This record gives sequence, C-alpha cells and structure tokens, in this order.
Amino acid sequence: MHPHHLHAHTTAHTLDTARRRLARTIATRRQVVDQPDGLRSSTLGRRSSLGGHGDPVGTIALLGTREHDPLADLAQFVGDRLAAIADQLTPPSPIDPMTRLLPLLPRLQPRAANVAARCFRMLTGRIDAALPAPPRLTAWPGDCPGCGVRLLQLHDAGPRDHWTVTCGAGCTCTGDGCPCQMPIRAQGVTHIWLRTTLTATTDRKAA
Ligand SMILES: [Zn+2]
Ligand SMILES: [Zn+2]
Repeated sequence: MHPHHLHAHTTAHTLDTARRRLARTIATRRQVVDQPDGLRSSTLGRRSSLGGHGDPVGTIALLGTREHDPLADLAQFVGDRLAAIADQLTPPSPIDPMTRLLPLLPRLQPRAANVAARCFRMLTGRIDAALPAPPRLTAWPGDCPGCGVRLLQLHDAGPRDHWTVTCGAGCTCTGDGCPCQMPIRAQGVTHIWLRTTLTATTDRKAA
C-alpha cells in the first residue's frame, strides 16, 4: 500500500477514536449538569429564560445547543468537515461520514489520500487541544530503518491488521535508495510502515 494510503488509514482511525472520546466527554458533562449540584453551580442565572427554577430538561437542552457547549460546537465542526469530504467522493447520505470514508480510502489517488490524511490530522488536533490529556502513542521497539533514531511509535486506533508504526523523529522518505524499507518509497512522505511489515523486516535483520 502506498504510504499516503497508510497515513490516511491511520489518521482516519485516530480521528474516529478522538471523535468517540469527544462524544463521551460531551455526554459526561451533560450527566454532571443533570445532577442537582451541577444545576446550581453551572447554570445559575439562566433559569429565568428556561422556565424558572428546577427545570433540568430546559437546562440540558440549552447545554446541548451549539452556542452554549464549545465541545458540541467542535463535534459539529468535525462532523461537517468529514461530511464535506465524504460528499465529494460519494452521494450524500445520512450515514456517518467516517463510516462512508473508511472503505473509500484505499481507492483514492495517493495525492487525494494525502489531502484526506492532512485534514484528519488537523481535526484530531482540534479535538486533542479541546480535551484534557490526549492519548499517548505506544513506543515500538527498535531503531527507525529510515533515520536510525529509536523513536518508533505504534498507531493502534483501528483494526489490528491496519496498525501502523511511524517515526517520532519525523523523518521523511528520500525515494529510491532510501534505507527505510517501506515497500513503496515516495520522496517527501513521512515514513510509515504496517506493523506487520516492520516486524518482518526486523526479524530478517536479526536473523
Ligand atoms: Zn526515522
Ligand atoms: Zn524512505
């Protein structure tokens, strides 16, 4: 698979995981507000416009609106951007845009996959910046075949056969003659390997 496709898959699954974290956080916040203490502490002063004291339904509805919950705003923004991409590639559909996009990614031209990956990465960055403690990547053993630095990182957000490894040093491919051992070398692309490919490579070197 072309490295641009690997990046697109990896960033898509990472974004999908970030979206689920965002949704869980929004749901948790609403549950907190649903508590009597939460009502008192976070919505004081709004009740006159919501039908008076003790109006949890109105309060929760208010927090669910885009203008009053920045995280709901962000979720809407991310969903809209994904839908815009999906609508360019498939007929409009009520199905979640990431569900529509994932099977399409391998069929994109490498350049289009690169554009999609950059967008997925940007959206994930927005979510990570809005939520506390973004998840850390798992270190992968061994030196980077491209630059020799021991900073390999495992991306395991998607299905196991799509797990990939990248180099935390951010090295890029120099194309033909690059020592990276990617099956397809492409000048300027950030190095990325299917985890299974890199394991096989390491085993061969050790043998
Ligand atoms: Zn490297
Ligand atoms: Zn390379």
